[in-house]
Amino acid sequence: MAGILEGKVALITGAGSGIGRATSRIFAREGAKLVIADLVEAAGEQTLKLLQDLGAEAIFVKADVAQAADADRIVARAVAAYGRLDCAFNNAGIEGAAGVTHKCTEENWARVIAINLTGVWLCMKAEITQMLAQGGGGAIVNTSSDAGLLGVKGMPAYVASKHGVAGLTKAAAIEYGRSGIRVNAVCPGPIRTPMMGRLLQDRPGVEESFVRAEPLKRMGEPEEIGEAVAWLCSDRSSYVTGLPMPVDGGLIAT
Ligand code: NAP
Repeated sequence: MAGILEGKVALITGAGSGIGRATSRIFAREGAKLVIADLVEAAGEQTLKLLQDLGAEAIFVKADVAQAADADRIVARAVAAYGRLDCAFNNAGIEGAAGVTHKCTEENWARVIAINLTGVWLCMKAEITQMLAQGGGGAIVNTSSDAGLLGVKGMPAYVASKHGVAGLTKAAAIEYGRSGIRVNAVCPGPIRTPMMGRLLQDRPGVEESFVRAEPLKRMGEPEEIGEAVAWLCSDRSSYVTGLPMPVDGGLIAT
């Protein structure tokens, strides 16, 4: 049976780890041709090998999403390799340093906003420009967070960046709906990835408090985000746009 992304050309950022890597594998299973990007060459090459082992057509681009030239280059490589771009998952992100609002340094603020928010916008700019030029619409999914829908203490830049991604997603959905470009976001709850490993390190009891708060009583796996992203990028979600979609074990409902 054909996959839900059969023949589509898809771009995924932050593909060297966690949610990006898991999503890349799901896209490959669903028949997409992939352009994966990450800051870290070794990690990106590792994901590329996993995809090739699955029999997928894929290329890796080492890129920093916070640099406009790099965002443009990822899209240019997609077009050079496959002739077009059908969908994109703007997922690269960092957690930044921990600390309440008045302790957040300007440096930490600027870095988190540059990667998590400006990086998503720069990638969207390049992707939308290409989708408009080629015609026929497209689907974009951005990674926000439950922290893009709710306040969370101790990470003000991260929370602001993820709220920004949710807002940018809605604004672009309104702007490009007429051109057939759908723009949605996933808002993951606590997902077992290297980033979450860093957040839990030396913080006994935090994992238990997540699990206690969640209706499903467990942390999520990166593949559970990837499945939602694949659906949002596929034609199966053809009437869905402008949605920051929680994928969080029901945490946001509590
Ligand atoms: P992860 O395991 O740290 O993976 C993120 C990947 O993005 C890493 O390979 C990272 O490289 C890369 N990256 C960082 N900055 C980049 C840049 N400037 N340009 C290109 N690539 C860059 O984290 P994850 O948990 O999978 O997170 C993926 C996304 O989900 C992030 O946007 C995160 O905020 C969001 N999210 C995660 C959770 C969770 O519980 N895990 C919950 C809500 C939202 P380095 O390893 O060098 O940093």
